[in-house]
Amino acid sequence: MNHNLFATFAERMAERGNAPFITTREGRHYSHADALTTSAQLAGALREMGVQPGDRVAVQVDKSPEAILLYLACLKVGGVYLPLNTGYTSEEIRYFLGDAEPALFVCRPAAVEAARAVAADCGDIRVASLGTTADGSLMETAAQTTPVTEVLQRDGDDLAAILYTSGTTGRSKGAMLTHHNLGSNAATLQEAWRFTEQDRLIHALPIFHTHGLFVACNVILMAGASMRFLSRFDADEIFEELAEGTTMMGVPTFYTRLLKDPRLTREACANMRLFTSGSAPLTAETHQAFEAATGHAILERYGMTETNMNTSNPYAGDRIAGTVGMPLPGVEVRITSRDSDDHTPLAQGEIGMLEVRGPNVFKGYWRMPEKTREELLDDGFFITGDLALIDDRGYVQIVGRDKDLVISGGYNVYPKEVESHIDELDGVVESAVIGLPHPDFGEGVTAVVVPHQGAVLEEEAIITALKDKLAKYKQPKRVFFVDSLPRNTMGKVQKNQLRQQFQTTYQ
Ligand code: ATP
Ligand code: MG
Repeated sequence: MNHNLFATFAERMAERGNAPFITTREGRHYSHADALTTSAQLAGALREMGVQPGDRVAVQVDKSPEAILLYLACLKVGGVYLPLNTGYTSEEIRYFLGDAEPALFVCRPAAVEAARAVAADCGDIRVASLGTTADGSLMETAAQTTPVTEVLQRDGDDLAAILYTSGTTGRSKGAMLTHHNLGSNAATLQEAWRFTEQDRLIHALPIFHTHGLFVACNVILMAGASMRFLSRFDADEIFEELAEGTTMMGVPTFYTRLLKDPRLTREACANMRLFTSGSAPLTAETHQAFEAATGHAILERYGMTETNMNTSNPYAGDRIAGTVGMPLPGVEVRITSRDSDDHTPLAQGEIGMLEVRGPNVFKGYWRMPEKTREELLDDGFFITGDLALIDDRGYVQIVGRDKDLVISGGYNVYPKEVESHIDELDGVVESAVIGLPHPDFGEGVTAVVVPHQGAVLEEEAIITALKDKLAKYKQPKRVFFVDSLPRNTMGKVQKNQLRQQFQTTYQ
């Protein structure tokens, strides 16, 4: 049997024929049959450009239907798809190309010259381009070559993609994902979230990240459903799309922005059956406000580049605000002590390291055997780097990242606990609590607060307001005010940047 994920997708695409697969607001349209045809042509172009089985194909292009067809073409010929954040500069690209050593680098048409220069420095890397209107040299090559009809034979354990992590806690690492990793997770999510051929997903996420690429596109392909591609999140466009959409996958900032808009009503969402959230924590407040406005309880799930999705709130059943739900079928989760190395599960309800095991868990970090050995244990569990607890109903609550834990005077301070108290204060939009080097305490608890426009907040007043709510060691020693928190494209707060900015506070 061929375990190439493309074989599974191709079967569904053939069944779905002329039914829509991807449409855009600009009037572009690919049926499932069109997607089969064009991906076969793009597969021909990849062969023409010298891509051999196992070769990496690095791709830094703007969002378009063809970029997804390129991903499919890459699977088909046994290549390893390697999407790169469109925000990366040439210098950053140099690191990724040097690390991944792809056979081919597909860039935007306007970036060909710069890409050639970087590629030439990184070895024998060919360059092609792909634009957002089926333009670029790759599409030209595709039109002239013989389409590839056969699907390259792959084992489930062969690499399908290398996806770099977001780089929130340090330099991005290349996560090696197999055909089975991606396929098993897509099948699980399709079933868990009940995607069918009738679904139309409003797709406003970037496609260089697990969320917009694998969670969204693989699930749609498994279901034989369709997607409406928006180049980015734009509230006006979302409100127009809600009428015909059935589902939307979002990051928390999508929802906080929609909530600011008076157009967010039950009626506006009448055609929708599901809103999901992930990539960063959704606050209980946002969850509740969205439900009050629309009648929809956002389904929050938790995953990461290395594992695809691990846990999800239930489709039918309570979607509990502030939790990421239960382990998905086939996925095991355990919480272990961060103070010992034996990885024995802690008692229920205790906070510790969140570890996961299952068919979704990656094969290791690309060219980082040491790091792989440290984080991927012999018994198959992967140390996620997140701290969590499992509540008495079996729901997982993410408490924060291990690297963001503040240790002050020998005591553990979980930033989320302090942040949630600060966020409740009048005049506060949101906050981030970080640990900064402190001569007496090791780390000093420090709050960075975003005030509401026009609100006048005082450092002393905030510290005083927290006095009867938090034990002394958890109380911030200093509070700083900023206009907004630094976030990446997926809405993740960049605490590294904050730590750097306020580094010398106590020194
Ligand atoms: P790096 O590993 O390079 O530091 P990163 O961890 O941000 O970057 P990703 O793999 O994109 O890279 O993100 C995974 C992380 O996102 C998880 O480990 C977790 O911290 C966070 N995350 C994802 N979904 C949720 C969620 N629903 N609630 C809270 N955190 C989430
Ligand atoms: Mg990570």
